[in-house]
Amino acid sequence: METKDTLYIGGEWVAPSTSNTIEVVSPYTEQVIARVPEAAEGDVDRAVEAARAALSGPYPELTPDERADYIVKLSQAIQARSGEIAETITAEMGSPASWAIMGQVFAPTMVLDGWADLARTFPFEEIRPGAMGPVLVRKEPVGVSAGIIPWNVPLFIVALKLGAALAAGSPMILKPSPETPLDSYILGEILDEIELPKGMVSILPAGREVGEYLVRHPGVDKVGFTGSTAAGRKVGAICGELLKRCTLELGGKSAAIILEDADLAASIPMLMPNSFMNNGQACVAQTRILAPRSRYDEVVEALAEAVQAQTVGDPADPSVAIGPLVAERQRERVLGYIEKGKAEGAKLVVGGGRPAGLEAGWFVEPTLFVGVDNKMTIAQEEIFGPVVSVLSYDDPAQAVAIANDSDYGLSGSVWTQDVEAGIDVARKVRTGTYGINQFGTLDTRNPFGGFKSSGVGRELGPEGLSAYLETKSIVLPGDYTPPA
Ligand code: NAD
Repeated sequence: METKDTLYIGGEWVAPSTSNTIEVVSPYTEQVIARVPEAAEGDVDRAVEAARAALSGPYPELTPDERADYIVKLSQAIQARSGEIAETITAEMGSPASWAIMGQVFAPTMVLDGWADLARTFPFEEIRPGAMGPVLVRKEPVGVSAGIIPWNVPLFIVALKLGAALAAGSPMILKPSPETPLDSYILGEILDEIELPKGMVSILPAGREVGEYLVRHPGVDKVGFTGSTAAGRKVGAICGELLKRCTLELGGKSAAIILEDADLAASIPMLMPNSFMNNGQACVAQTRILAPRSRYDEVVEALAEAVQAQTVGDPADPSVAIGPLVAERQRERVLGYIEKGKAEGAKLVVGGGRPAGLEAGWFVEPTLFVGVDNKMTIAQEEIFGPVVSVLSYDDPAQAVAIANDSDYGLSGSVWTQDVEAGIDVARKVRTGTYGINQFGTLDTRNPFGGFKSSGVGRELGPEGLSAYLETKSIVLPGDYTPPA
């Protein structure tokens, strides 16, 4: 069993302030696979102190190109350890190896590469014409930032936040989830290896109480939170009260609209990973599939065949598509939703229980419900497991109305041979990211975030970088001319 006895605070591996520990339990074997220190309030205080010192240290004064160089080094060092990182994330939270190398490691490095390129071209300082003369508009680091990380795609969410913070020049304190501290130890080693200036990053695995202490800490200026909508509301309320800058990336219940002309043979294999990726534990998962009534049976048949073909088992086996859920509580929650779906009248056509022959491990069979009404609980609430519902519609306007009849608005997709018709649908769906015939709906270089209860603010792209910057306008004398 792996054990750790230090925390990465301010760029040093230090003894934790308490003897509290986190046990990491394999979702596949249900055995404890590692024990690491659990960060406590005293550790947060030390991390904040180091971050505030770093804010007036050398890193924020670096040129954007120099900051970009650090981000590139970070990306390259992650790539160099890609296999080990993917295996670690698979071991701690059950992400299938068949997906983890791309989704859990290379996707984060693509995000980091995007941040590096943006840092090189972003207008951190520009002179704009003003009412009385020229105005120097400067973008300065937001201050000390906190990155609160969920367990489902831990390094990816770190890359969204840390890449922006490093591009902006903002020191960041990361708080990984207690389910997934192990990959964050590799990240700490990598930050050491690339010789990132001390104090720029601290990593404090802990639960929600310590997370909340970090959010409330007077030395933290900005919070980048990713997690459930319930926790996001709490974090947003604290940030509102304390007037901290805040980005919230929350849950989703996204709709994939299959238009009447869709080529099912081409679309279903692309849509499947969109719905079931990471064992269904993805905020952008397409969990409501909207099929035209005229082709409903055909869509159901194609989906049922595809869902049935999903192999379930040891997440480390590269031939397995669906691994276990992160925790026992998550399996019980998902099974509870399946019972609710049946009780409310949805028809189960594939799955619906625990797979036979897998005694250990928090598995739920890939599950397909048909005849689902959008008012049902399984169509309204985020299940966060391998459960997908098929709904029917009469015309595209009704499909859009059903897609929009949701508290959430994170992602969505449309499947059609007529891209213009797809763009027309995309314009009408109230959601932050959208794909037309796309396996993925999130582009690593463009804004990502939610409408409605899916979040506040955006990550990625210039909008995402701006969330880690403060804007200052310096009114210059009317006859000012910049030095040559
Ligand atoms: P969670 O809300 O339970 O926890 C997320 C993180 O927040 C953890 O690190 C947790 O310790 C911390 N936390 C919880 N309450 C807190 C509080 N009051 N103050 C400070 N920190 C607190 O979510 P989870 O179960 O880890 O992740 C699953 C959820 O995350 C799903 O709802 C999913 O849709 C969402 N998610 C959203 C995105 C996105 O980009 N929109 C991406 C991934 C996951």
